[in-house]
Amino acid sequence: MYCIRCTLALLAVASFIGAQVPYDLLLKGGHVIDTKNRINSVMDVAIAGGKIARVAANIPSSEAHRAVNVQGLTVAPGLIDIHVHVYQRPELKALERDSSVQPDAHTFREGVTTVVDAGTSGWRTFPDFRARVIDKAQTRVLALLNISGAGMGTGREDELTELEASAAARTATANRGIVVGFKTAHFGGPGWESIEAAVTAGKQADMPVMVDFGYLNQIRNLSTLLLDKLRPGDIYTHCYSGHREELVDGKVNPAMVAARKRGVIFDLGFGAGSFYWYVAAPAMQQGFPPDSISTDLHTGSMNAGMKSMTNSMSSILNLGAKWEDVIAMSTWNAAKEIKQLALGNLDVGAEADVAVLGLERGDFGFLDSAGAANRGSQRILCELTLRKGRVVWDRNGRAAADWKAFPYDRKKWTK
Ligand SMILES: [Zn+2]
Repeated sequence: MYCIRCTLALLAVASFIGAQVPYDLLLKGGHVIDTKNRINSVMDVAIAGGKIARVAANIPSSEAHRAVNVQGLTVAPGLIDIHVHVYQRPELKALERDSSVQPDAHTFREGVTTVVDAGTSGWRTFPDFRARVIDKAQTRVLALLNISGAGMGTGREDELTELEASAAARTATANRGIVVGFKTAHFGGPGWESIEAAVTAGKQADMPVMVDFGYLNQIRNLSTLLLDKLRPGDIYTHCYSGHREELVDGKVNPAMVAARKRGVIFDLGFGAGSFYWYVAAPAMQQGFPPDSISTDLHTGSMNAGMKSMTNSMSSILNLGAKWEDVIAMSTWNAAKEIKQLALGNLDVGAEADVAVLGLERGDFGFLDSAGAANRGSQRILCELTLRKGRVVWDRNGRAAADWKAFPYDRKKWTK
């Protein structure tokens, strides 16, 4: 028999406690850098129901079920890597000519919560990419559709019959919010067909184009691309590659400076062969930083100089970029470039994708795509990553209970 008065009293106590614990998780004492909201100071970040609930100084730990001490660390929006390759094509036999990787295997340990596949699939292969990877991954996976219908690595990026702008635009429009633009890459044909088709699709779907400029020839030069062919908001990736006259007589190509003035975006796209100190160092010195930092993640780059998102960010940081600018390049700038303004910030109500990053001090070496080293005194390490408010990476067990107090489920596994 329950005493009704006791039950009511208990309910009242329970609702009182409930009212006192409004948050699921509290990141306490970190230095918040939220470029969009112009926050660059010590703040607490409270999370409830998978969303950012409050960003303020001194939120009491008693208001959260779990408070995590992140003093001495930077709390940023989940990182956005706008150039990766995460679509393994089904027609290929295992490992044959396929350098794409599984997104969840690389992202959270690096603070990355959103990746943009840069043209591995085209409009013909996108439905398979969506069904097998995008809809299954825990990482938010977005896509730039290759303007070649067959996609990348098929040997068909040069085939003019594969450049179907309207078909690409239709697929992009039908998948708006997941497809965020178009990619043209590795084009070795004589003219501008691939770039023009991508821009046409971009106009039809009202989405940006990312360009890997492929091979130069008599007709195709950087200045015509950046000043005539691309629209403001289109993205030039591999900006420090040096393969396409990004540096002329030791100076940043004046066409790049002029293009930035007219709104063309410059993205890092580190990759396996697109980042060299002899381009990056003078460019940074001459005041030409990248707008966004992306990895061009694939099996080639991750085992070479690029390594990872935080290593790519460290490479730019050690060339003299300010820490808050490196965060901006990896969060809010990237979100704006792909026109996904709900991402890359810590707005109240935003999905709680958060990266907690540490800066190690010491003597470190960073490699470029040729294998040349640059010494640096700071290295970024990802301590903790949240995706939709859930802890998905915890390098030091900061968010975890000690094992002696842990409520283990001691079920025996016998059959
Ligand atoms: Zn790429």
